[in-house]
Amino acid sequence: MLLLASMVAATLQAAQPTRLALVGGMLLDGYGGAPVHHAAVLMEGDRIVAAGPASEVEIPEGTPIIDTRGETMLPGLIEVHAHLVIVGDGDYPRWFKWLEDHKARYPLTSIMALSARQLLAAGVTSAIDLGAPLKESVEIRDQINRGTIPGPRLSVSGPWLTSEPAIFPPYCQVEVHTAAEAARATEANIRGGADVIKAHAGLNFEQYKAIVEVAHRYKIKVHAHLYDEHAVRDAFNAGVDVLQHVGSAGTPPYSAQLVKDIAESGRPVVPTAAHRVWLFPATRDFPERLDDPELARGFPPEVWAEVHDSLRQFHTLDYFVDREQEEFFGDASLGQWIQSGAVLGMGSDNGTPLNFHKDALWREAKVFVDHGLPASRVITALTWTNARILGKEKDLGTIEPGKLADIAVVRGNPLFDIVALSQIDVVVKDGIPYRDAERMAIAARATGSPR
Ligand SMILES: [Zn+2]
Repeated sequence: MLLLASMVAATLQAAQPTRLALVGGMLLDGYGGAPVHHAAVLMEGDRIVAAGPASEVEIPEGTPIIDTRGETMLPGLIEVHAHLVIVGDGDYPRWFKWLEDHKARYPLTSIMALSARQLLAAGVTSAIDLGAPLKESVEIRDQINRGTIPGPRLSVSGPWLTSEPAIFPPYCQVEVHTAAEAARATEANIRGGADVIKAHAGLNFEQYKAIVEVAHRYKIKVHAHLYDEHAVRDAFNAGVDVLQHVGSAGTPPYSAQLVKDIAESGRPVVPTAAHRVWLFPATRDFPERLDDPELARGFPPEVWAEVHDSLRQFHTLDYFVDREQEEFFGDASLGQWIQSGAVLGMGSDNGTPLNFHKDALWREAKVFVDHGLPASRVITALTWTNARILGKEKDLGTIEPGKLADIAVVRGNPLFDIVALSQIDVVVKDGIPYRDAERMAIAARATGSPR
């Protein structure tokens, strides 16, 4: 009888939508509209039901409240170029050998779960993983969706398609040499559960076209890893949806015609600007960043010890061998895209050397602000534009009634100083609040005055 009564109580409770309110801080809607001061956001279940000045948002009695006074509430950040199998180690062959040697203790999925957790702690509520084994990617994505492990809502590419295998293990890449092989590999990834396709290096126009045709049949977007002018042109003409790395100074600036064509098309460019060109000098000028306990937090100590050790001589790493050229072209290369009016998405290529999941995206944002893109536009790129790149703008990217309840709460004002994005206090995903990727227990308290 007692059991039955508690079951009935549990059922009744489940029928009530879980409410949550964030009250007191400044609100940025993601569209780039004027900030709303002393605002409130009310959520029910996994959706936002009201947002606006706190004086106008009616909060039902008993709703748990998170006080956001002195803080800024903005849509959960979206990362459109993530790598969960790498964690900032200086040398890929060394890292993957270490993983192989320690796989009993740290299977690949445990590393991906670690990266996912750190992304969520960094305010990232949705991300696109662009290169990992498909089975593990799908497993991690689905575990996050089921709420078994904390992390951003993932879209995964599985292994990338390439004709020039990079120094990654075979499980991260599929080698293709003809259009027919490219089409088959695309189909196989999609049937295996991929949400997006990543075309890597060395492909030609026919191969991009074959990939795009198959992917678009399934309404799936194609991202391409591009540096050289002719590769960008081929991928663009073949209909590739998202042009990754373009503008990151791996080559001299592009021809005016190419930039104009891309800008006019509205096809998004994701420069991944910080990953070499500005991370290297940032670390050279302040190597102390590598000793910040914040970066180590959450890592099993021996995993962090390996990463930290691999970076001891970071200025000698192969990954940064072209840094003089990249630093030389950096300002012109990124500036060309900022001034072009092209649709700019924000992706950090996180997990690459020196590029940690904890701080990659705010560093990417800072590079754009330092190059003249206003902070309000950078925030819109991180949220609304990136939601459009995901193809999920109906549900994500802005704070307004009806959208999924994904919100980052940061200390301070990111419009004044974009580095405020590094000061994450609370992250709400699907209406569930987290602090440092741990679910927050919040006591309901009487409403009326949040003060
Ligand atoms: Zn990448």
